Amino acid sequence: MASETSGYDYIVVGAGSAGCVLAARLSEDAGTRVLLLEAGSREPLPAVATPRAWPTLTGSSMDWGDHTVVLDGIGRTEAWPRGRGLGGSSAINALAFVRGHRASHDAWVTAGAQGWGYDDLLPYFRRTENVKGGDPAVRGRNGPVSVWTSTSPHPLSQAAMDAARQVGHPIAADANSGLEEGFGWTELTVVDGKRQSAADAYLLPVLDRPNLDLVTDALVHRLVVDGGRCTGVQYSVGTRMVTAECGTEVVVAAGTVGTPQLLMLSGIGPQDHLRELGIDVVADLPGVGANLHDHPMTTVIYHSMQPLPPFLANGGAEVKGTVRSGPGAPWPDLQLFCAVVPMRTATLPGPEPGAGYTIAVSLMAPFSRGSVRLATAQAGAASVIDPRYYTDSRDLDAMAAGLRAARELGTAQAFDAWRGEEAQPGIDVQDDDALRGYLRRSLRSYHHYAGTCRIGVDDGAVVDTDLRVRGVEGLRVVDASVMPSPISANTNATVYAIAERAVDLLRS
Ligand SMILES: Cc1cc2nc3c(=O)[nH]c(=O)nc-3n(C[C@H](O)[C@H](O)[C@H](O)COP(=O)(O)OP(=O)(O)OC[C@H]3O[C@@H](n4cnc5c(N)ncnc54)[C@H](O)[C@@H]3O)c2cc1C
Repeated sequence: MASETSGYDYIVVGAGSAGCVLAARLSEDAGTRVLLLEAGSREPLPAVATPRAWPTLTGSSMDWGDHTVVLDGIGRTEAWPRGRGLGGSSAINALAFVRGHRASHDAWVTAGAQGWGYDDLLPYFRRTENVKGGDPAVRGRNGPVSVWTSTSPHPLSQAAMDAARQVGHPIAADANSGLEEGFGWTELTVVDGKRQSAADAYLLPVLDRPNLDLVTDALVHRLVVDGGRCTGVQYSVGTRMVTAECGTEVVVAAGTVGTPQLLMLSGIGPQDHLRELGIDVVADLPGVGANLHDHPMTTVIYHSMQPLPPFLANGGAEVKGTVRSGPGAPWPDLQLFCAVVPMRTATLPGPEPGAGYTIAVSLMAPFSRGSVRLATAQAGAASVIDPRYYTDSRDLDAMAAGLRAARELGTAQAFDAWRGEEAQPGIDVQDDDALRGYLRRSLRSYHHYAGTCRIGVDDGAVVDTDLRVRGVEGLRVVDASVMPSPISANTNATVYAIAERAVDLLRS
């Protein structure tokens, strides 16, 4: 069964972090008709609202359930959750609301993304936020996203903050100002004890607008491109195929995996790859699906000398800090945090929850780059995701420095009342080779996938500095995939800011 729908100004594909911002802002103008299409369901699972339940959402019906390929040098796959449903990944994420250091944003400009430096994005960071403290010149007061910091931190979190002080790390007055380095309390997207996803903050409050249509359980199969111009999309709801047309632009906000997947299914991507799969080439853009980056993570896990009280919030990552891996690091390229749970990969032994805790470290400026490719020409099929973690050996060097920094923090006096034996990596793991081996064994994704449709002006760029897809009229990409290089922070706050700025670009 097939049908058609038309009369829209904009079609937004994907109701995730970026898509919710776009749909809500674009429909502020009552004369603008917006169609928002989302593959997932309208009703969130109950666990979405409960911050500490976030790990249970990986593998649930709100996760696409992807895995990487068997990773080079690591020898196993890694789960690669991404949200499916209203709010997208902001509905299943760990709720941390973190801006990058300004230098990591300014690196985008160096990479050719004029207009996307920290000062350019600052008004949009502020536009998203409703923050009580901080410098009003830097932090927003009236935005839809409320941030919350625990007022009664877990005793282990307090120990982590004290430990940071003891080992000489700066304590940042506002770790989210983008200007400071050091440790601070983590801001979370929590309101009255419940998660605030992008849907909660932006979309649900405006869903009754007559000029905004939302269709859920709608899988977009391909973009309709006619004479070099994108005029709409084809999507399915159950067995019904629908062609939707729009007069102004289609905005793809399907995320770092979903967006290159949809572009390639529509013939926009590396021509050799498309031809292999029998897809007609609409625009040969070799950068689609390339430049995939993520923040790799490792953990130092301790047995606890005393039972750990239960945690609230998001699992106890209440304290985060940024440090440099060495004097040559261009910005604070490592993030450390303390978690009240033993975060170990399934293959490594160690304490059970309640009997152990973690100092985690993640590389915020990885050099390794991977790719997203189609496995088949069928919409909705899993893609081939190869992040190629640690394939650039500089990443292993920086992470070895990170492991040392995590141990320094973990062995500070402030943890004496808690610290039992080091379960992972274990005290025998000391020299560089042993540390590198452990980094591979313990690798986890921090789920900050980005970069597969990067902004730029060179032939490898997918979108120009106004986020227009190169070589196709009427089509933009607005989501984490446009980030040219990794930011030194968890990605959600930056995706909101990208989408807020995109709205100004779309309106201009
Ligand atoms: C488990 C996990 C934990 C994380 N923790 C944090 C954290 O604590 N803090 C932080 O800052 N960041 C965190 N992140 C990362 C952050 O949430 C993401 O970077 C951000 O949400 C990405 O936004 P996006 O708009 O690019 O994509 P998404 O939010 O993933 O949205 C894409 C949307 O498009 C839809 N879609 C895709 N393909 C199609 C299609 N063909 N048709 C229709 N719809 C489609 C998807 O269903 C989805 O709703 C985490 C991510 C994960 C997965």
